[in-house]
Amino acid sequence: MTLPSAIARLPERTTEFGALLVRWAEINSGSGHLAGLNRMRAALRDEFGKIPGAQLEELPCHGTLAALRVSVRPEAKTRFLLSGHFDTVYEANDPFQRCRWLDAERLNGPGVTDMKGGLITTLAALQTFEGTPHAANVGWDALLTPDEETGSRGSAHLFREAPARVQFGLVFEPARPNGDIVHSRKGTGGIVATCRGRAAHAAKIPNDGRNAILALAEFVLAASRIPAEQPGVLLNIGNIRGGGPATNVVPDFARSELDLRITKVADREPLLARLHALADEINRRDGYKLELSGGFNRPPKECLPLEEKVFPEWQRAAHDVGVAPFTWVHTGGASDGNLLTAAGLPNLDGLGPIGDQLHSDREFIIVPTIAQRAQVAALFLHRVAAGEIRLAG
Ligand SMILES: [Zn+2]
Repeated sequence: MTLPSAIARLPERTTEFGALLVRWAEINSGSGHLAGLNRMRAALRDEFGKIPGAQLEELPCHGTLAALRVSVRPEAKTRFLLSGHFDTVYEANDPFQRCRWLDAERLNGPGVTDMKGGLITTLAALQTFEGTPHAANVGWDALLTPDEETGSRGSAHLFREAPARVQFGLVFEPARPNGDIVHSRKGTGGIVATCRGRAAHAAKIPNDGRNAILALAEFVLAASRIPAEQPGVLLNIGNIRGGGPATNVVPDFARSELDLRITKVADREPLLARLHALADEINRRDGYKLELSGGFNRPPKECLPLEEKVFPEWQRAAHDVGVAPFTWVHTGGASDGNLLTAAGLPNLDGLGPIGDQLHSDREFIIVPTIAQRAQVAALFLHRVAAGEIRLAG
């Protein structure tokens, strides 16, 4: 088997990719930093806009926040979505702003793996695919969004629209540190529990105060046991606040935020029902009111039949470009792949480069894996364009 030369030669560009990554990672684009997000989107326009035939659209997300969609051959019968986010968890005031080479291959920097390295993988895969002989048979959208790290609320509609434009999604979130990609992801949500009691002087005898902190503590302790009762569910008591500065007052207010994760769509109702039953136990007591608000923002990404069929082809493409063997695994973190699955679009996720220590100032990427993972994607697209891989179910 011989690789199209554009694909075979991709690793020669590793130095170029490293330099571009340093430039992009040092543009602060924290999810809350609007000016930085605009600068990052402009940088993406510059590079993706050079792909021959690229049509660029800026799509409003929320307020003045905008996504970038790059389309080639919108009329093609077989089309792909390649998706990635250009926001990071490091805000403008974060001390972590600069890149540093740890050794010849590993680069430490904000968002280098999650996921500016993935954006370069996407760019390189598309540039390379466009240089393969059957590219005219396949069209694509690159959808680059500004709010993934905060739950993709503003861009969710762009993922819902995707099945009308494309047949399959490729999500370039990071690979696992051992090279595995993502089989499925937990769905994520959050609940705010607000408890009201009755204030009284701490020394009153008998005391008709109703301590909201104690009641809420009972609730969160009971809630923390749900994962043991319901396999596939994760629940974290993220914070708790209550009372006031005076400790001689029975506190009448307490509030806690819970992080919720589920493995299957079917886990959602039993989890919410159990939480409400626990709240009802508190509410049956005289003088207490415990209210729950919130819910799920990203449903679980469950593995779809077409993904099962296509994954061995992805592994074969990886083998043929010399990437070490890997498999696909379940993960607790959500991504925009969850939204694509909820929209009914089969997709492979975790296709980006390899790194580790995401969301910390120790985040690093193994830079040569940018070109390697781009080779896999380009070869896979080439084989679809050549008719070797069929996407029909
Ligand atoms: Zn990410």
